[in-house]
Amino acid sequence: MKVTQAEFVISAVGPDQYPEDALPEIGLAGRSNVGKSSLINRMINRKNLARTSSTPGKTQHLNYYRINEELYFVDFPGYGYAKVSKTQRQVWGKMIEKYLLEREPLKLVLLIVDLRHPPTKDDEMMYDWLKHYDIPICVVATKADKIPKSRWQKHVKQMKECLALRKTDAFVMYSSETGLGKEELWAHIESIAGL
Ligand code: GDP
Repeated sequence: MKVTQAEFVISAVGPDQYPEDALPEIGLAGRSNVGKSSLINRMINRKNLARTSSTPGKTQHLNYYRINEELYFVDFPGYGYAKVSKTQRQVWGKMIEKYLLEREPLKLVLLIVDLRHPPTKDDEMMYDWLKHYDIPICVVATKADKIPKSRWQKHVKQMKECLALRKTDAFVMYSSETGLGKEELWAHIESIAGL
């Protein structure tokens, strides 16, 4: 995908603020600091459109980015941030659940994990949750540049096994640093979004 236009649209706190033009939406989920903003920036060739190290604890905002007037990236608030209260966690859960259940243009969720480590308990819960709602998933294991190539396959295997990744779900190894996996991920998004 050749990205010619990418813009931040809105930090939406509820359905009445979601865009109404029915473009396909690609959700992005991952724990705080996993590399979600960096992944978005690399996908759209921008240094800083998605703010890296976005404020953890902002549990209520879905950040919409419109790309080429063709689709949206919808960045979910990062999860697993220790300082978030139980109440905020519940707010997060309710908002995402409503979005997953009711948002018709949602085509796919990218679950961003860190290739260096096994998935966290929160990653596993998120995967199971998305499966529960029958949402198409692509697991994107980022920060691949941080481990030697010779160990990639071992880490991929461990990640897939721990998540019990279904054969129907896609898996892409990624690096925001080198651009590894970018074209593969775009190809997958385009095919799912029907572009
Ligand atoms: P977010 O909280 O999930 O949005 O995470 P960020 O995108 O802010 O990334 C957190 C930290 O990880 C930052 O210091 C990034 O520079 C670094 N980072 C993110 N992705 C990569 C990657 O693919 N490779 C390397 N080496 N560092 C990364």
